[in-house]
Amino acid sequence: MGYRIILGDITEQHVDAIVNAANTSLLGGGGVDGAIHRAAGPELLAECRTLHGCGTGKAKITKGYRLPANYVIHTPGPIWRGGTAGEDALLAGSYLSSLRLAAEYGAKTVAFPSISTGVYHFPLERAARTATETILAFLREHPDMEITMACFDERTKAAYERALAEYGAAR
Ligand code: ADP
Repeated sequence: MGYRIILGDITEQHVDAIVNAANTSLLGGGGVDGAIHRAAGPELLAECRTLHGCGTGKAKITKGYRLPANYVIHTPGPIWRGGTAGEDALLAGSYLSSLRLAAEYGAKTVAFPSISTGVYHFPLERAARTATETILAFLREHPDMEITMACFDERTKAAYERALAEYGAAR
């Protein structure tokens, strides 16, 4: 199965689709969302305006414009509210909706950022476990796909590596 964890900038990934940790407006924001819009150019915002937002845990797709990636899959992850507001299911929903959309569009190589663990404050270790379980379960059904987790800092990369090791040990 194709799953790899790297340290890197998602806007530089030469993959079929990158995933954007967007907000529900899909009209841009800070963090990885701002970086993706800057790198893609203003045509991305113009297309996003036609989408009329997206629900938390769901996903919508656009072209990648000036990015090396052909597509951007926009998914608003959950804002952390203490863990009892359905955050885990919503985060799994963000990964699964994005992966299903990628498969539907024939995007076989897909790169994710660490959704919700920036300004949305989802606890990193818990997010990494949910992301890992969701991605690996999906890959069992789609063994031709290659998923990259593009971590922006060492702490994030270490958390996803631990989650993968734990997942492997639990099987
Ligand atoms: P959210 O609102 O979903 O929490 P953020 O953009 O605040 O989204 O953060 C999500 C993760 O994306 C964080 O780990 C942050 O460090 C990371 N990040 C920020 N810029 C980039 C980038 N260019 N490439 C990959 N990851 C990035």
